[in-house]
Amino acid sequence: MPKNGLNIKFYKEDNIPLELHKVRVVQKLHLVPIERRLEALKEGGFNTFRLNTKDVFLDMLTDSGTNAMSDQQLGAMMIADDAYAGSQSFVKFQKAVEDVLGKKYLLPAHQGRAAENIISRTFIKKGDTVPMNYHFTTSMAHITENGGKIEELLYDEAFVINSKHPFKGNMNIELLEESIKKNGKENIPFIRMEASTNLIGGQPFSIANLRDVRKVADKYGIMLVLDASLIGENAYLVMQREEEFEDKTMKEIIHEMTSLADIIYFSARKLSSSRGGGICTNDEKIYKKLEPLVPLYEGFLTYGGISVREIEAIAVGLYETLDETMISQSPKFIEYLVNALDKKGIPVVTPAGVLGCHVDAMQICKHIPQTQYPAGAFAAAFFLISGVRGMERGSVSNQRDEDGNETYADMELLRLAIPRRVFTLSQIKYVEDRLTWLYDNRELIGGLRFTYEPPVLRFFMGGLEPVSDWPEKLIAKFKKDFGDSL
Ligand SMILES: *Cc1c(COP(=O)(O)O)cnc(C)c1O
Repeated sequence: MPKNGLNIKFYKEDNIPLELHKVRVVQKLHLVPIERRLEALKEGGFNTFRLNTKDVFLDMLTDSGTNAMSDQQLGAMMIADDAYAGSQSFVKFQKAVEDVLGKKYLLPAHQGRAAENIISRTFIKKGDTVPMNYHFTTSMAHITENGGKIEELLYDEAFVINSKHPFKGNMNIELLEESIKKNGKENIPFIRMEASTNLIGGQPFSIANLRDVRKVADKYGIMLVLDASLIGENAYLVMQREEEFEDKTMKEIIHEMTSLADIIYFSARKLSSSRGGGICTNDEKIYKKLEPLVPLYEGFLTYGGISVREIEAIAVGLYETLDETMISQSPKFIEYLVNALDKKGIPVVTPAGVLGCHVDAMQICKHIPQTQYPAGAFAAAFFLISGVRGMERGSVSNQRDEDGNETYADMELLRLAIPRRVFTLSQIKYVEDRLTWLYDNRELIGGLRFTYEPPVLRFFMGGLEPVSDWPEKLIAKFKKDFGDSL
């Protein structure tokens, strides 16, 4: 009975997510004083990407490469086969991809965006359009770098922050047909579906929807590319929310999804709690087209820029994504936090998705215009008052259009990533508590402006500054309320 571990009920206590693992390796954390946190923000251009972990208490920047690894993964890393060509570690990786993702041809790449580089360079010509449910930052950047553009085709429900819709990541099928007719199928190299749409709150698509996308792809003879970086969590939510699949295993659900795609790529930093990436397909012709770019950009075909030790960890990690008691841990903690905040009236993306808790800075910081980056400001303010590092997922993370104009994001979110099996429930309670305080003091938060804006993926290394002395005012109120507490 594989699913028993998902429904452990408490006797008299409230049901809370129960960890089905124990902690055997730990890393000490420290919470530095609020004054130091302000200095750190100034040194890092009010950009949480540029903070140093010595100043960070709970690192909720991302799930990328930060999921806890299992004892099995760490053990496997010790017996890796160090070889430039023909490594047996790669053979294990291939086998795991075939078993878990159902594709027999595998091209390794050092991480997800490297896979995007190879796919975009191979298939995108100038003027092409890639319809997708929603973009991810690096996916879009590679498409536009190669002269293409994207069209995001979600249903309106996807942008409703407070919703009960179980599948906000669904592709709008009517718009997809319109897009193909408008652009011409010869100008559409592929349709891209992203599992658990990262930028709109980790929201899944349903398999019914993916089947409909496949039908359209077949009708027009267009390839379907699946970004499977977060497919494990998408599959878990399908198991929870899509009736047809409630009694199916994770493996059956994942196979159902992957069988519908011509090409699958993934960031192993997320998918398999390790570091690496890859592209896989069952079509030898597609494989052959992509193959030459791997040795050019990544490394030989049996390592692709990934250390063989990590390749061992990926192989084990792929099998572990089939264990719903493992894959459900992060979504359950997220659900706990999202529901707790929602109950208090703090605007968060609902229903709870995967990857993290997404707080709606647009609504909380109504007084900050989008030109002053409310989500960036909220992320900086939250780090300041808690030591918790989240990530801006709003207009700072958007890129300018071809004429250099700002494009404002559909949503201004603070994403608090909850990587798999990393944090404890008391730490989640701390996040809840400090968010509540910041929400009650939201009027004190002010905007930001750029002081340094890189031309590509500006959110990574960009520098900003507050438009007023609002951080000092926030500190004064914090001191008043918390005294000498950190
Ligand atoms: C992280 C991510 C990528 C990029 O992967 P990297 O390993 O960070 O390069 C692509 N797509 C999605 C959906 C992601 O979450």
